[in-house]
Amino acid sequence: MSKPQDGQAKVVPPAGKKKPCPLCGKPGDDVCRPFCSKRCADLDLGRWFKGDYRVATEERPSEGDFEDDDDLDNI
Ligand SMILES: [Zn+2]
Repeated sequence: MSKPQDGQAKVVPPAGKKKPCPLCGKPGDDVCRPFCSKRCADLDLGRWFKGDYRVATEERPSEGDFEDDDDLDNI
């Protein structure tokens, strides 16, 4: 039995090289990155829901789909 070698060295990110929080500019947190804290992550998420994210839902389904309801009477 050969002892498993540590062929894959653990990749340790260099400290102090974290990207700053996009919201407040503080150093990012490993857990909440790229944000500095859960609070900033939630704030950014909120902006998505209030802003750009809603634009994607503006699209209406094609009206033709609703006419298929008539088929239900034939069953
Ligand atoms: Zn922040």
